[in-house]
Amino acid sequence: KLLEVKNYSVASTDDVPILHSLNLTIKKGETHVLMGPNGAGKSTFGSSLLSNPAYKLTDGRVFFEDEDITDLPTDKRAKKGIFLSFQTPVEIPGISLYSFLRAAVKNTGSPLTGKLFRKKLNETLKVLDLKQEYLERDLNVGFSGGERKKVEMLQLLMLSSKLAILDETDSGLDVDAVNIMLKGINEFQQDKTRGLLIISHNMHILNKLKIDKVHILVKGHIVAEGGSELIQEINKDGFIHFETQAGDCN
Ligand code: ADP
Ligand code: MG
Ligand code: MG
Repeated sequence: KLLEVKNYSVASTDDVPILHSLNLTIKKGETHVLMGPNGAGKSTFGSSLLSNPAYKLTDGRVFFEDEDITDLPTDKRAKKGIFLSFQTPVEIPGISLYSFLRAAVKNTGSPLTGKLFRKKLNETLKVLDLKQEYLERDLNVGFSGGERKKVEMLQLLMLSSKLAILDETDSGLDVDAVNIMLKGINEFQQDKTRGLLIISHNMHILNKLKIDKVHILVKGHIVAEGGSELIQEINKDGFIHFETQAGDCN
């Protein structure tokens, strides 16, 4: 098992309950999709897995590679290989993409140093169809949506994370950017020791990915689980059916 949450309940720091007793297991080599209406708690789940201080666990445990990480802070979880990709990446003027990647990789305690880092970087640039010149640009400053996507995929593949959580990073992307994202995800999926949790409603992306399991979150409850047929169901009918089902929940 890569990730296991048991009886996982989360509230905001001012005690508003958001997630209720979630149970979810992601095995190595699996790609899971989390869907749900606005405000269901999807982002809360993603951020809380990295121990975002805006949330507190009110019940349950989290295991990563069968180790209890419930009490570990953000940096330790990141070092263990959990990667969370945000909707809006930060702009850092004065830092080149190259320096940023170098520092980020070093920070994870990765064995990718010197020549190995360079070699992996060159390979990854090729996979994503990126030019070397890219590396000299200031991190994300003035980057287009598509360029940011490339940077994010570069980071994902360079960091050798084990679990990648992509939280609606596909909103508003053009076709080129969607294709970059698909390439990045496909490459990530090649390594069967890794796993993915994708929060998305983008059919262009979901239709083209190998997906093992889909979880539907409504009002902080997992109300349905299944294979990719659930995605088609939601694409057709939306969440109404599931919302009625979660009607008694708060
Ligand atoms: P989703 O990503 O599914 O749209 P979110 O996880 O962003 O949903 O939010 C779930 C619910 O929790 C919403 O009602 C939101 O207002 C609330 N919420 C999220 N973050 C906080 C917070 N830090 N403090 C209080 N309430 C929050
Ligand atoms: Mg949510
Ligand atoms: Mg969200």
